[in-house]
Amino acid sequence: DSMFKVGFLSDVYEEKPVSDTVQKIVTRFPPEPNGFLHIGHSKAIAVNFGFARYHKGDCFLRFDDTNPQGEEAKYFIAIEEIVRWLGFSPVRITNASDNFDRLYELAEDLIQRDGAYVCHCTKAEIKAQRGESAEGTRGQARYACTHRSRPIDESLQEFRAMRDGKYKPGEAALRMKQDLEDPNPQMWDLFAYRILGEEESHHFRTGDKWKIYPTYDFAHCLCDSAEGITHSLCTTEFELSRVSYEWLCDKLEIYKPMQREYGRLNVSGTVLSKRKIVQLVKEGHVRDWDDPRLYTLIALRRRGIPPRAILNFVNELGVTKAKTNIQVTRLEQTVRRYLEVTVPRLMVVLEPLKVVIDELPDDHVEMVDLPFGKDESFGTHTVPLSKTVYIERSDFREEDSPDYFRLAPGKSVGLFRAPYPIIATSYDKDPETGAVICVHAKLEKPGEDGKIKRPKAFVHWVAEAPAQGSPLRAEVRVSNQLFKSDDPSAHPQGFLADINPDSEEIYPDAMVETGFKDIRASAPWPKEGGEKEQTGDSVRPETVRFQAMRVGYFTVDRETTDDKLILNRIVSLKSSA
Ligand code: ATP
Ligand code: MG
Ligand code: MG
Repeated sequence: DSMFKVGFLSDVYEEKPVSDTVQKIVTRFPPEPNGFLHIGHSKAIAVNFGFARYHKGDCFLRFDDTNPQGEEAKYFIAIEEIVRWLGFSPVRITNASDNFDRLYELAEDLIQRDGAYVCHCTKAEIKAQRGESAEGTRGQARYACTHRSRPIDESLQEFRAMRDGKYKPGEAALRMKQDLEDPNPQMWDLFAYRILGEEESHHFRTGDKWKIYPTYDFAHCLCDSAEGITHSLCTTEFELSRVSYEWLCDKLEIYKPMQREYGRLNVSGTVLSKRKIVQLVKEGHVRDWDDPRLYTLIALRRRGIPPRAILNFVNELGVTKAKTNIQVTRLEQTVRRYLEVTVPRLMVVLEPLKVVIDELPDDHVEMVDLPFGKDESFGTHTVPLSKTVYIERSDFREEDSPDYFRLAPGKSVGLFRAPYPIIATSYDKDPETGAVICVHAKLEKPGEDGKIKRPKAFVHWVAEAPAQGSPLRAEVRVSNQLFKSDDPSAHPQGFLADINPDSEEIYPDAMVETGFKDIRASAPWPKEGGEKEQTGDSVRPETVRFQAMRVGYFTVDRETTDDKLILNRIVSLKSSA
């Protein structure tokens, strides 16, 4: 798959695999199963799975489940599902916890190699040893604590005592005996194991077996090593950790994968933190974790964003060491470009206004040919045209003006693909509200040359033709930006104060043309089907996406029932910026 070649970690590309004995690239995507993945994670997924795919290697999905609190079964399921939806199949699914016994053995081994010791210092004491003052200033002289030089056997006994529950959290920890002289803080005797309390130590997989848990610094590289990972790709915040990663493998004399770093994908204009999304859901600002206004991957999926467009987006930003800061709406441009050439077109009227063509007989129905695409290349279908048609309320004006080209009294407008334009003759108003409820119209007649004058504008429409099943009714949800500013978290009254009150517009009485049934029956649309294997839509072949002409791109919302069709807008047709 060539999409991952250009700009993809060019420095890693030039390097040979770890050793000559390792010929096959093996990577892993290591999420912590404590929440739903978000758009930032799509970069990590694309990097790890994409790098392996490009090199015909393997990528594993590894659940980094070393922090039992907050880790839940539902997240394991949701994460695997979304990885597959993005189009990737993990060759193996592993858990850090699969290795807990092995990690424990390696910890004892490390102690025996004089590479770790049990320490009883407090947090404040450890800070001071690392050269940090109580006030937080750094750079004071670093020094070792007394535990560092205790006999190996004593550390071993104490480590076993930690395991057996002799100590409470904070009373003991296993620390690596690294190098306090090294300028790199990741070498200042990092924690390898810590004790968790009664309420926080129950593990979703291993139950109550363990009271001590390995840290990221200890577990990650040892899991990579145990699984035969060749390239441990992580974000640049871990650049300094590369040294401790290698130190630990070397000290234990075990297989050492290469850690390499790429820049995070930071997005602005939304919130991604779990705590904040929980608050949005709890207080009812959004429908759920998959609300189309959010940027979790399940939200993007519900909103109808094609998985391939997400990968295109990551790829366009480039995979380098540089951190990328991007306004979330940038994604929409990529999505538009993708949808423009892949999805069919239909007519949907969001706010229907009734137009009666008075001269047509009550039972008049004629079928109009309508291409599914810009031209015939997507195939065509027919829709009924009758005496009563619905147009968009915003396509009619009570008073005409020279710069206005749609329907108004005395003015003609084309009904898209219909054989003749219509001219408004009069209109009826609701006596109470004053709203226009019906427009009367006549057909534009051919001129002396026998030709019908071409109207200045065409509008989309849906006819009333019950025998032909028209119109279909739908509730249409149009999502806009959830926040008013680019940096909701910077709002002085907190991010909730930055919420856009008009972030969701609902059109309860929208009308959809009958071609919708055809595209729903043939989903996935053939144009997208060509990429089926890679888009991951194969996981959800029923996904329907289409362009509503002049309105936007839409998909079917998951709350749709047999009785009620609900459509979500994926993106508008044009960027509003
Ligand atoms: P981190 O541990 O980096 O804070 P996280 O806690 O948000 O990430 P994890 O589930 O631990 O989420 O992350 C899984 C993987 O995805 C990690 O390799 C992490 O570095 C990567 N990742 C998370 N967020 C981003 C991002 N915004 N851009 C690129 N990669 C990311
Ligand atoms: Mg995390
Ligand atoms: Mg993490």
